[in-house]
Formats: sequence, C-alpha cells, structure tokens
Amino acid sequence: MKEFKTESKKILDLVINSIYSTKEVFLRELISNASDSLDKVALKRAEESATSAGGAGNTADSPEELFIELSFDYDARTITVSDNGIGMTAEQLETDLGTIAHSSSLEVKSAEEVKENEETDIIGQFGVGFYSSFMVADNVTVTSRAYGSDEANQWYSDGIEGFTIEPAARENHGTDVVLHLRSNDAATDYTKFLSYPALEELVKRYSDYIRYPIYLETTGRREVPRPAGARRWEPTFEEYTERRVLNSMVPIWTKPRAEVTQQEYNSFYMNEFQDPHPPLRTITMHARGSHSCDVLLYIPSEPSGDFYSRDYKKGLKLYSSGVLIDEQSSALIPEYFGFVRGVVDSPDLSLNLSREGAQDDPFLLDIAKQIDKRLQHELDVMRDEERDTYVEFYSNFGRTFKFAIYATFGALNEQLENYLMFFTALKDEPVTLKEYREAMPANQPCLLFASGNEADKLEASPSVKAVTDKGFDVLLCSESVDEFSLMTLREYAGLPIKNVASDDLVLDDADDLAMMERVDAENAELFSFMRDLLPSDVVQVRSTTRLSSVPACITAKGPVSLGMEKYFTSTGEESGRPQVRHALEVNPTHHVFETLKQAFADGDRDKVTRYAHVLYGQAMLAEGLEIKNMKAYSQAVYSLM
Ligand code: ADP
Repeated sequence: MKEFKTESKKILDLVINSIYSTKEVFLRELISNASDSLDKVALKRAEESATSAGGAGNTADSPEELFIELSFDYDARTITVSDNGIGMTAEQLETDLGTIAHSSSLEVKSAEEVKENEETDIIGQFGVGFYSSFMVADNVTVTSRAYGSDEANQWYSDGIEGFTIEPAARENHGTDVVLHLRSNDAATDYTKFLSYPALEELVKRYSDYIRYPIYLETTGRREVPRPAGARRWEPTFEEYTERRVLNSMVPIWTKPRAEVTQQEYNSFYMNEFQDPHPPLRTITMHARGSHSCDVLLYIPSEPSGDFYSRDYKKGLKLYSSGVLIDEQSSALIPEYFGFVRGVVDSPDLSLNLSREGAQDDPFLLDIAKQIDKRLQHELDVMRDEERDTYVEFYSNFGRTFKFAIYATFGALNEQLENYLMFFTALKDEPVTLKEYREAMPANQPCLLFASGNEADKLEASPSVKAVTDKGFDVLLCSESVDEFSLMTLREYAGLPIKNVASDDLVLDDADDLAMMERVDAENAELFSFMRDLLPSDVVQVRSTTRLSSVPACITAKGPVSLGMEKYFTSTGEESGRPQVRHALEVNPTHHVFETLKQAFADGDRDKVTRYAHVLYGQAMLAEGLEIKNMKAYSQAVYSLM
C-alpha cells in the first residue's frame, strides 16, 4: 500500500468526518472530472485531425461519441461514474489521486481546527474534487486506461491511510469510478442516492450544463402498444431497459440571460473557477451572425490568494465548437482586467488554432476588444451608479489599474485614469480624480497629492497642512504604486498633478511670491550659511509662504519625490538609487525665523548652527525621512534643552 501525502490525509480526514450535510456535491465533482477528461480527448482528436487531414476537420470515419455514464447497484450499494475520456496511467493514478490538487488555494487544516462554517465553505462550495467521494463512500475503486495505451490499472482506497494500484482490464480508454456507499447513520441516509430520480435530480441541479451526454440506465415496466389492426387485445406489459441522457447539454454560457438564474451562474462560477465566494458581477455577451460567439464573464468579489503574486495567470477559458482549446487564453483579456474569470466559446474560431497562434488570430483579437469595451462599460456604470459596490471592488482590485498605468509608461492613462480612487486629507470617503477635480476651489491651480506610508500621518505632515490650510484637498498616496501611477499620469483634465512636497509647487498668489523673493534676497547670506552646514542633499535653503503653523519643511528638488525617496530607502537597495535633492523651506512669518535672523545679525554662529540642524531634522522627520547627520541633529537638540 502507498501512503497518502500528509496534506491529502488532512483533507480526507476533514471530508470523512464532515458534518456538512450537502454531501451530494460528490457527484458534481466526479462528473466535472469526467468532463475535463473528455475535453482532453476532444482536443487531442481535433489536433490529430487537423494535422492528418491538413486541417480539414474530422477524418472520414466518424469518431465514437464522448460521454459520461452513471449507474448504480442498489444491493451492492455502489454508484459508478464512467467516462471514455483521457484516462490515467498507473503513475497518474498515483500522483493525481494521491495528492490533493487544491492544497495551494486551501489552507490545509485538520478536522478539529476547522470551524463548522469554514468547513461548509471548503467542502460544500469549493469542493475538494475527487476526494469528496469519501463523504459518501467508505471505499472507492478507480479503473482507468490512458488514451493511447493498452494497459489499464485499478486504484483502490478506503480514504484513510493510503491506496493500492494493481493492473486491471478495461476495454477502451477512460475511467470508471466506483463508490461503495457508507451504511446509513443517524445523520445521513446514503441509500437515497441509489435511485434513478435521485441521480437525475442531482445531475439536473449541478451538472446540467456539461456539454457531454450524461447517461443513466433505467429499467421499468410498460404497456406494450396495441398492434395495428388487432381486433382483440388484452393489455400486456413488458420489462424494459433504457439509456437516457439526464442533462440538457446546453452550456450555461450559450443560454440567454433570462433563462438562467443568478444562483445557477454563481454555482457554475464557484465550481468552475474554484472560488468559495459568489462573484461580484456576472456579465454575458452573445453575438450571432458570420462571427458568432458566447461570452460569460465574472468579476470575483475577492482576489484569489495568489492574485497579487507572480504565479497568478490571467486568462479566459476558450472553447471552439464545444472543444476546450485553451484552459487560460491570456490574449482574451487585457492585463488590467486580469482578475476577470470566464468562458469564451465560438464555433467560428479555427479548430486547429494552437495556443500560441491564438495570440494573433484576428477574430480572437476582435473578441478581446469587445470584452475590454464591455468590462470598461460595466465598471463605469458600477462606479457611477453603485458607489458602495465600486468602492468594495476598488479596494480589492484597484491596485491592478495603478500598476497598469505605471507599467505602461502612460499609454493607458486615458483608459484607466477614471477608475482610480484615493483617500484625501479632507474627506472620509475615497474619491475619483473627476470628483476631486470638480470639488477643487477656483484658485487651485493643480491636483495635489502627498505620499507616505500611513494615511493618518500624512494628513499631519507640514506640506499637507500648508495646502489644506488654504482650503485645497490632497490625494493621499499610502502605497508607492499610488504615487507612481499619479506621476505617470502627470495631468488630469488638462491640469497638472503635483506633489505637495515638490519645490516647484506654486500655489501662492503674486503678493506671496513678491514677499518670498524679498525675504530670500534680504536673507541670502543667512540661507547660504545654513545650506553649507547641512548635508549635501540640501541644495537650497529658502523662504516659503506655504507654511502657516510650522517653522520649516523639506521639499524635493528635481525628479525624485519624497515618496520615491522613502520607497527607495525602504527597499534598502543602494546601487542604482537616484540622487535625491532637497530644499529646506523656512516660514518667514514664524517666530523661530525671527530668532534665527536675530542670531545671525548678532553674529551668534553657534546658535544659527543649532537652529539650522534642528529645523532640518524636524522637517525630515515630519515627512518620515531619515536624517542624514543624526549626530549633529541630536547634539543641537540637547544643547537647546
Ligand atoms: P481537480 O479536478 O481539481 O484537478 P481532483 O482531485 O478532482 O482535482 O482530481 C485530481 C486529478 O485526477 C485531476 O486533475 C485529473 O488529472 C485526475 N482525474 C480525476 N478524475 C479523472 C477522470 N475521470 N479521468 C481522468 N483523470 C482524472
């Protein structure tokens, strides 16, 4: 016997000891696996016929039908799910059924660690694939023969410690999964699954959209029809056996919206895309004509665990004439809508469209364009008409837009700028750039932002206060990507976007400017004396009228903003770090400046030095920056105490 992997054991333990009552989902999971295996055969055949017949479609001898077959044996207490799909080799039986596939998206816990409602989430909504068989079965036998092989093998397990694999016989490629049902107990009647109506109902409820026929044999008694012309006829009955298709086989994405309930859309999504949460939005598109196409899209309500990681792969499922040609066709969705999940199906895509070729198929690119447009429209409507939903959406996926703006060096500015939202210094709710722009007082010359790590501290920074004191609001950037996206935008609605802590920010009227010029001229000697004392980053000391209550502030001179400087400092990367340049701006109306001026006039160089170090240090700290000459700063502070 081979042992299950530790994680698999934990999941199995959870599944077997599950008190979750919707055990019936096991059938959905097995049918879904069977359907996947049929997809793989269909794709193989499509590829084979494309190469052998020069892409002319099916070969002369029409291939056998692909199907799923259910059967049950009441006395033996077994249910069998068969398919003539791709099958599994002995190695695949061992690896695929011996390890749990979902472990990356599930935090694997033991049964005792899982709370009741969490368990419902994991097993009921998300499904644990093949292992859900053990919710209803005390042992499972899987007989499988891989496509293109003439060997079959049998896997057997009681779902506790491990499994065995032995050679077996199977006529054709495909897989039979035989579940031996548990004995009924106080909580569950397992016998109820051993009936035609019960299985039919489960297939209709969970698997109706499966595109392959799901057969179930039924037996019964029926009246023999009266032969034509018979004069005397006693009603007679006969036993009959009939193989019926249980599912409608109409894929959910081809149905008109009005014929599908939201519940159905949700459960398709949760099952197909393995998300325990129902989607935030469901979007359908149908095109008919020379290029017909069905599209079903979902905006998730939460990002998946790996969404913001490198491992995440965007893409939609791509079908052509019922054949799944690409599990994740990335050409169908732009990078900034990478969170969207869904299915695209078109009979007009060429079947031998290889995954690589799909990237430049003109029809496919056209579909991609339609999808992009439609998603933009949906988000426009959500933002303008369902504010709360949009705010929730944005808190989950907004970063994608900022990354996209930044990563494309501005190429997507117009497309994406109106999806951005920011918290601001003066409002409690996040605002869009449009709303911010519309609320700007007439004398505010540009959009303003400030960057830092925590929004709260930002509001207290002198450069922000200097601006809000004038009645101008400030967009708060709490992540480096916030600032990078705004720097890439550079302007909005024809107005520049500026950092409150950049030295070229001119918010002052003519009187203010004249006063600053006068102060700078009168104190040129003092300012250059101060500059020479301070670290070399400080390339200028000058006056400003932007401050009201604080004596001085630091601004960035040149291309590296204070926010970027903080970002580079936090990454700790020394090489390639751009040169930062600061200006120390002093408030000429503050009493500290009066003292400073007086000391300089009195020739008290020591006092001026102490003041300069403290003003610089305090201004750096207020912006959350590192003081370069820490020693001089602390000595100055102590000597003033
Ligand atoms: P998932 O279907 O999400 O990958 P499962 O635990 O349900 O996870 O199945 C694990 C793997 O076992 C599948 O990915 C597939 O490779 C294989 N498998 C399961 N059932 C079948 C089947 N009927 N035919 C072929 N392969 C199967």
